Amino acid sequence: MSKRVVILGAGESGVGAALLAQKQGFDVFVSDLGELKDIFKDELDNAGVLYESKQHTREKIFNADVVVKSPGIPDTVLMIGELREKGIEVISEIEFASRFSKAKYVCITGSNGKTTTTLLTYHILKTAGVNVGLAGNIGQSLARQIALGDDKEWYVLELSSFQLDGMYQFRADIAVLMNITPDHLDRYDYKMENYIQSKFRVVQNQKNDDCFIYCLDDENITKELAKRDIKARQFPFSNFKEVSEGAFCINDEIQFKEREDVMSVFVEQLAIQGQHNRYNTMAAGIVARLFQIRKPVIRESLLSFKGVEHRLERVLSVRGMEFINDSKATNVNSTWYALESMKTKVVWIAGGVDKGNDYGELKELAAQKVKALVCVGVDNAKLLESFKGIVPTIVETNSMQEAVKSAYYLGDKGDTVLLSPACASFDLFENYEHRGRLFKECVRNL
Ligand code: ADP
Repeated sequence: MSKRVVILGAGESGVGAALLAQKQGFDVFVSDLGELKDIFKDELDNAGVLYESKQHTREKIFNADVVVKSPGIPDTVLMIGELREKGIEVISEIEFASRFSKAKYVCITGSNGKTTTTLLTYHILKTAGVNVGLAGNIGQSLARQIALGDDKEWYVLELSSFQLDGMYQFRADIAVLMNITPDHLDRYDYKMENYIQSKFRVVQNQKNDDCFIYCLDDENITKELAKRDIKARQFPFSNFKEVSEGAFCINDEIQFKEREDVMSVFVEQLAIQGQHNRYNTMAAGIVARLFQIRKPVIRESLLSFKGVEHRLERVLSVRGMEFINDSKATNVNSTWYALESMKTKVVWIAGGVDKGNDYGELKELAAQKVKALVCVGVDNAKLLESFKGIVPTIVETNSMQEAVKSAYYLGDKGDTVLLSPACASFDLFENYEHRGRLFKECVRNL
């Protein structure tokens, strides 16, 4: 392993990587074009790691043997290309961290459902007493946990395509691919093909005795699979088709199948509802079965999992109207699943930063279920144009307070007010969490 490690980007993953590199005896330097959070500065100071903020000093960076790049920095940044041209390894934090641990990994990726499936999987494994940790795009970075000497036998990792892009030797013992729908295409040259290849990195390096769990209903996945020679054992899951190994859901009953062994769960008993959560449940349940966790423990964990904040999270009922926070729906596909799972008429709050959205696929559901659309964004033109004549009432607002008040007046007893923006949040909010928290606060203040 090389001697000089440069970390580009000092967020949770970068700082974790720096602490681990320092502990491993490397010569470490951290560089961030922005300002570092005070808490991270303190940590780096305490560990004696050198860092710079608001600049990238080229001499120091190009002196590296290996560069650990934050997932937030696109591969297309000039300096990244130059580093690679000079033969300097540029990798992601997970790739780096995994080189210093003997842990095994369940890796969960996809365009939507990663966090929910990761937390659900972790919940089942933990309940069953597996020595398991949680990392990736969630909570403490893997590198930090390994640096703390706190490594577990297994980790459930939530992996974004940006993390996967910097992974080369890493091998997933169990890989899970939830779905591939358009997202982040700005980072992939606006080519869906590139984004698909990035997601499929989750199976790279897998061997015969590894496992690959994937959604059989997703055409982007199945078409790509038809072109590939997958070495791992395959476990598909489907909402429509019966499978001989894996899981499927027919007549509101999920069946997990492993050769002759079958386990059934009724959808109505699940703590998390909606078609998308059937997928998430099937994926997590297959992982649990691979761990040979006893059926009653899997069932009990599936029923007791309470879901994740900002993902179809029930907030409150006011005047007979249910308010639901789905602020994490930052793309069209996730909002499709949110609308699809609504059982009443909906007052839908949407809008924000458009990521090249095509609202076409939402029109049918909107026509059936949405009685009013409340736009909350700086530029609502595309939403207005897309749903004119489809949704009876459309109003524009430019703050969450206003949006929630409008929705409250537009709704009636028995309706659901759903915040499911289908857009990023950066026009009016710091991030999706801020947007969701504000929504909940405004609802509680009604
Ligand atoms: P991710 O971590 O991939 O962004 P989350 O679990 O945080 O996924 O869910 C993000 C959004 O997508 C939520 O609004 C949720 O309602 C929706 N969603 C969750 N699971 C799925 C799925 N399997 N398919 C499509 N949408 C989903």
